[in-house]
Order: sequence, then C-alpha cells, then structure tokens
Amino acid sequence: MVTPVHSSKLRIYNTLSKDIEEFQPINKDKVGIYACGLTVNDYMHIGHARTYLIWDVLVRYLRFKGYKVTYVSNVTDISIDDKILKRLKEENISFQQLIEKYTMAYFEDRESIGLLRADVHPLATQHIQEMIELIKKLIEKDYGYVTEDGVYFNISKFKEYGKLSGIRSQELIAGAGGRIKADEYDKENVGDFALWKKTNTDEPYWYSPWGIGRPGWHIECSAMSMKYLGESFDIHTGGEDNIFPHHENEIAQSEAATGKRFVKYWLHTRHVLLGGEKMSKSYKKLIYLRDAVKKFGSLNLRLYLLQTHYRKQLLYDEKGIEEASLTVNRIKKAIQFLQLFILKNISSNVGENLIDTIENKRIEFIEAMDDDLNTPLAIKSLQDIAKEILQYIESYGPIDSKFSLKILEILDPIITIIFGNLYSREIRIDMSKYFWIVEKMLEERNLLRKEGNFEKADIIRNKLKEMGIEIEDFKFGSLWYISKIT
Ligand SMILES: [Zn+2]
Repeated sequence: MVTPVHSSKLRIYNTLSKDIEEFQPINKDKVGIYACGLTVNDYMHIGHARTYLIWDVLVRYLRFKGYKVTYVSNVTDISIDDKILKRLKEENISFQQLIEKYTMAYFEDRESIGLLRADVHPLATQHIQEMIELIKKLIEKDYGYVTEDGVYFNISKFKEYGKLSGIRSQELIAGAGGRIKADEYDKENVGDFALWKKTNTDEPYWYSPWGIGRPGWHIECSAMSMKYLGESFDIHTGGEDNIFPHHENEIAQSEAATGKRFVKYWLHTRHVLLGGEKMSKSYKKLIYLRDAVKKFGSLNLRLYLLQTHYRKQLLYDEKGIEEASLTVNRIKKAIQFLQLFILKNISSNVGENLIDTIENKRIEFIEAMDDDLNTPLAIKSLQDIAKEILQYIESYGPIDSKFSLKILEILDPIITIIFGNLYSREIRIDMSKYFWIVEKMLEERNLLRKEGNFEKADIIRNKLKEMGIEIEDFKFGSLWYISKIT
C-alpha cells in the first residue's frame, strides 16, 4: 500500500502578504478552513462553481497530505435588497420560500459536480444571536456606534484597515465620516459599514437590542467562522471580488473584537470571463452551472474548470469543455481496463515495470499541487498516466491482476482530488454487475467475427453501445469500458 509522503511542502499564494508562502497551519496537523458560500437567491453560475471547485480540491489535497481539516462553508440566506423584494411580490412567494428553493438547488448543484459536503454549512439565519453578540462586543470596545438607522463600524478606529485589499489611508480619510448602507459598494466608496440595519416590518426582519432589522452581510461570516473554527484560524477563501469590501471588513470586525489575528492565509480565485466580461449576476452575463452540466456532463465540466490555474482568469469556452472529454475518456479507459484485469483475475508477469512509471508521475502530480495548487500541471500528469497505461497494454497485453490492483491503489487517491465524488460515481464504476453479461456478449461477437459474420458482430457492438459500453480491440483480444452510465 502506498502512503502519501510529505516529500515536498505545500506553497500557496496569500492575498494578505501578496506572496507565495509555505503552508504551516497554526496547530501542527490541524487545519481550519472557511469558504464564503453562495447567496441563495438564485442558481449557482459557472463563476461560483469554479470557486467552490478550487476549494474542494484544496480541502481534498490537504487531507491527502495528512492534515485533519475542518471545512466550514456558509450559506448566505439573508440577502435582501430592492430587487429581491420586487421578486417576492412578482412571484408571490415569501422570503422563506425563495430561500428554501435556492438552498436546495445550491446543494443539488454542489453534488452535481462532485463537491464534498463541508463539515459545517452554517446558515446565516441560524446565527443571528452570534452576530448580535459580536456587534455588542464591537460597541463595547468603541468600534461600533449606533445611529438612527442601524449600527456601524468605525473604520478609522481600526488602524490596519486596508491591509488585505491595499486600500490606502488617504482614501480612508477621504471617505471617513461616510456610511455605506448597501452591501454592494466599490473602492471609491470606502466608509463605515453597517453591522446592523434597522428596517420596518414590511421587509424580513429579526429582533435585536437596536430594534428590528437585519445584520450586515460581513458580520455574518465573522460570527460563523469564529464560532466553528475559533478566533484565529488557518485559511479563508473566496472569489477575488470578496477581497474588498467583504473580507477587508471581516478582518476589521473580527480583529477589533478579539484583538487577535483573524486568519493566517487568505486565498482568492480570479473571475470567469464570458465574452470578455466578468461572469456575474449584476452584469447579467452568466451561465448557470446546471445548464452547463446538462449540456456537457459533469466530468468534462469539472476537468475543464480545473484546467486553468485558479489565480488566472478563465475565459469560458465551450470548445474547451468538449476537448476535455478526450482526457476524461482516456482516464476512464485506463482505469476501467485495470479493473477489468482484476475481475478477470489475470495472471501474468506483465506490469511490474509500469508501477515505477506511475509512481514517478504521482510524484509529479504532488509537486504540481504543492506549487500553489497548479491543477493544470497536475492534470497533465494524469493525462500522461492514462497514456502510459494504454500504451503499455497495447504493447504488452493484459496486466497481472495484482499489479493492476497496486496501480489503482496509487491512482485512486490522486484522481479523486481532481474529480472528487465523480471519480467513484462515473469513472471507477463497479464493473462487476456488468461483467458477466458483457463478457458473454463479447464471446459471442468473437465467434461471429471468426466466422466472418461481421454484420451480426456489429449488432452486438451496437447493443453494447446502447448500454453505454464501448469495445476496444487489441491483438490479444477485446476490452470494454463503461463510457456512459445508462
Ligand atoms: Zn463571506
């Protein structure tokens, strides 16, 4: 059994230091990670999916390296603006109904591309009390102040404000005194931000010591991350548009309240571009994940999204997704041929020297991942592995079952990092339930071919195709793989 060796160390880009750093958790082998989740008032688009996918790969990789990871990702189920209120009226549904619908859809969409369940998916609406406590603390410490329309955070009191986003102090002075009521604001609009917004009863509201209303967006993530991961934790992630104001404000609130460093490493994905523009809801330029999955399949889409490094903009291109299917297919074939050799209980001396080649490629994979999660390069190692296996079979014939098993033991953990839950679901499928019938049909096809009855032989091939099964003919005989689960 091959166990992962910490031969090289993970290095990641920290938005806070603006540098690549060697990853060293606060507590030896324990890692706490908080990933900003979806605002559940619409379906997930490709830009979100890419972000969640990267953190899925990161969590899996950290666990692969032997870390005990606690993974927390929130669900923002308090997001109310004029557009939402208008929609509630138009669709004649309650806020609660809207949130429930899209929360369900969010988890379905996560599942569709093979994402892990986080250890905790806290809902903002379930943590109002924690948010109120945090706001109270900020008022006590004089960072928060109460006005007629809510509670605000005084950014001029937090001397390190701007350390994540690089917003300069001059801008702060220019903006000082101004208050930002909305959640959507830009760099020109630096100012004190809302911790609690007072509202009236015709909007969804919660009770607080400062009257009915709702919490500001930023306080939600500070309260929930610290509840589940402690006042100081290792990794906080998000998309690049979270850097300012969301994460900058999270740092200000949390560090002002605790007097401790909030997060050690801040990681951000860059945007997905569609026709040269940022994919986002506010620009109305987006493709929903569920539509893309339906069109291209989840394996192809997942691989495609990981073929660009997370700190590079991804130019969404449908041709690229189609091309990803070539790699997916080759990996499927290589893995399932090995499974087949085990089911057939092949006994030969073929395959021992292939193990060294695979082992070297595995190290290449790890080195790529250690280099700031270089998924495109890691995927290249997987492509090479599939190619090596297929060429080897072509040249030397069926691989001995115990060597096949050994190779699968090396590959399962690393391929799962890239394909997530889709690996066991769609690649390393349980072939045993198809084995008997398919082998029987192949036998028949072989006989027909020997008799020169190619027409009838092709009928069998086509029947198998209908079952989602493809045949590949070699000098030594035919192998099959499940290309589509029907
Ligand atoms: Zn957040």
